[in-house]
Amino acid sequence: MSTKRDYYEILGVQKDVSEAELKKSYRKLAMKYHPDKNKEADAEEKFKEISEAYAVLSDTEKRSEYDKFGHAGIDGHYSTEDIFRNADFGGGLGDIFDMFFGGGGGGRGCRRQGPMRGSDLRYDLSITLKDAAFGTETKINIPRAEDCDTCGGSGAKKGTSPKTCSTCRGSGQINRAQNTPFGRFMTTATCNVCHGKGQIIESPCPACKGTGKTKKVRKISVKVPAGADNGMRLKVRGEGENGSAGAPPGDLYVVIHVKPHGKFERVGDDIVCEVPISFAQAALGATVMVDTLHGKVKMHVPKGTQTHSVFRLKGKGISHMHGYGQGDQHVRVVVKTPSKLTSEQKRLLEEFEKIGSGNKSHADKNGKGLFSKVKDVFEA
Ligand SMILES: [Zn+2]
Ligand SMILES: [Zn+2]
Repeated sequence: MSTKRDYYEILGVQKDVSEAELKKSYRKLAMKYHPDKNKEADAEEKFKEISEAYAVLSDTEKRSEYDKFGHAGIDGHYSTEDIFRNADFGGGLGDIFDMFFGGGGGGRGCRRQGPMRGSDLRYDLSITLKDAAFGTETKINIPRAEDCDTCGGSGAKKGTSPKTCSTCRGSGQINRAQNTPFGRFMTTATCNVCHGKGQIIESPCPACKGTGKTKKVRKISVKVPAGADNGMRLKVRGEGENGSAGAPPGDLYVVIHVKPHGKFERVGDDIVCEVPISFAQAALGATVMVDTLHGKVKMHVPKGTQTHSVFRLKGKGISHMHGYGQGDQHVRVVVKTPSKLTSEQKRLLEEFEKIGSGNKSHADKNGKGLFSKVKDVFEA
C-alpha cells in the first residue's frame, strides 16, 4: 500500500489531461514552489513532489504504467534518477536534474562552469530630429572588457603560468555525497579554493591584477534608420561583453534619444510648426518661405487667412520606418499684430478703418489700392 499522493491530484489535473495542459499546470505550480522563489519550509518538498509527478506523467510509457499499476508500476521499475533524467521540464526553471542530484552523474557536472555568453551592454545615443528623420551613421565609443595584452588573458605574470588547482585537480568542482529525500547522491559544488576556475594564479599579472581582462574602448559604427524615434533600441549583435572561454559575446543595445528641436514638434511621423505672418499677408494672401527638415519651401497663404489656420506641406515630415513614404508638415500661421507703428502706418490703418466702416461703394473702389499700400508699408 502506498502513502504517496496521486500524481494527477498533485498537479491538479484530470486523468485525460493533454500534454500541453499538463505542462501548463506543472509550470504554474513549479513557479510557485521553486525553492529559489518560495522560502517556505515545505516549498522544496512540494517542488520535488510536483516535479516527480510531472516527470512521470509527461513520459508516455511511464504514464501508461502509472495508469495501469499506480505507484507500484513506477517505483518498482524506475530508479528516481531514471524518472528525472530525461524529463523535459522546459526552460526557465533551471536544470531540475542538477538541482536534485547535483551534476555528479553522467558527465553533466561541467554545466555550471561551462563557457558563459558575455553580458549585453546598453548605450544611450542622442541624435537630432533631422538625423532621426533621415537616418544617420555614427561612431560610438564602447568601453568593454577584453583580454589583457600583457598576459594574453591568462592573468598570470609574464614568465609564469597559472597552476592547476590541487583541491579540485583542475575541474573547478568538488564532489560531495549528499543525502536527499530520494536517497544518497553525489552532488557537485564549485571548488572554493579556485572558485571554479580550476587554476590558481600565484603571481598575478600586474597590468590586469590577475583578472586577465582590461577595459578597452572600442569604436563601433551604428546605423540609425530613417524614422527612428525616442526609446527605440538598436541591437548590434556581438558587440557586448566578451564571453568566457570562447563563448559568444553579448549584444550591444543602442537606445535612441531624439533631442528636442527649437522649431519643430514631432507628432508621430508628422512635424508641427508655427510661422508668423503679417496681417497684410493674411488679408491679401502671400507666398512665404517655410523651414522644413527637407530645407526651405515656398508655401502659399491664401487671402483672408485667419490666425492659427493650419496648412499641410505634404511629404515634408519624417520617413515612415515601416512602409513607404513619409509624414507631412503642418504649418500653423500666426498673424502678428504690430505693437509699434510708424506715422505713415498709423495714417494708412486709420484710413483703412474709415473705409471699412464707411461708404461701401467707396471701400470697393479704393480698398484694393489701399491694401497694396498697407502691404508695402508693413512688409518693407
Ligand atoms: Zn594581464
Ligand atoms: Zn579548485
